[in-house]
Amino acid sequence: MKKLSTFIVMLLTFVVACGPSIEGEQKAWDANVNSVDKLKNEYPAYAQLIDYKLTEAQKIWDASLAIGDEEKKAEKMQEANNFFEKGSISVLRNLKSNIDRLKREKDNLLKTTAPDYSFTSKINNAVTEANSAVDAAENSLYVKGNLTKEDADVQLSRVGTKLSDATRTLKSVAESITKYKQEQEAKLKKEQTKTETQTTVAKEEAKPIKCEYCSTSSPAGSTKCKSCGAALPSK
Ligand SMILES: [Zn+2]
Repeated sequence: MKKLSTFIVMLLTFVVACGPSIEGEQKAWDANVNSVDKLKNEYPAYAQLIDYKLTEAQKIWDASLAIGDEEKKAEKMQEANNFFEKGSISVLRNLKSNIDRLKREKDNLLKTTAPDYSFTSKINNAVTEANSAVDAAENSLYVKGNLTKEDADVQLSRVGTKLSDATRTLKSVAESITKYKQEQEAKLKKEQTKTETQTTVAKEEAKPIKCEYCSTSSPAGSTKCKSCGAALPSK
């Protein structure tokens, strides 16, 4: 059973790696067309942009239907899907989840203890950037009226960039704190090991030296046996 599922996964990977399929693109297209009403209901201010995207994508899609060669047909279908779903529509679709993710990551960073002052200011800057991106995104989410497709496009790409930039900043600050803490820990461990080694050596050096001829113990550091005067091994 496990072998079979592995085989299926490998087969799917192979099929996907081979490029778009007519079936896959048809499914994606149906989903895109079906999502239009829902999107317009949810974001009425962007209706013009959504309609424009669908109309233009539809032209590409219609052109694909006239293509006989299966591979080229699937590629054209993919082009239609990409035209619709990439860019501003993708930003719109993911706006709410990306806002939530950014807020979550910001809260996580705020819970992190800054190892020193330089990190405190890094955290503060990242939080400020995140707040500004969330504000911009929420403003565009609840914008009133009807935006022209150009304004909508500009607005969404600006917000999309702000959100991804702010997310990247938060992640990089969090990662640099983790890295710093790991380095500090490694340093501390190294120092501990060093101290332990030094203690062992010191103990060894403090040991009295036993004479190999008369078995008398002389104090550490002696060069000659205190009893018979024989030379003692140095350490
Ligand atoms: Zn001796």
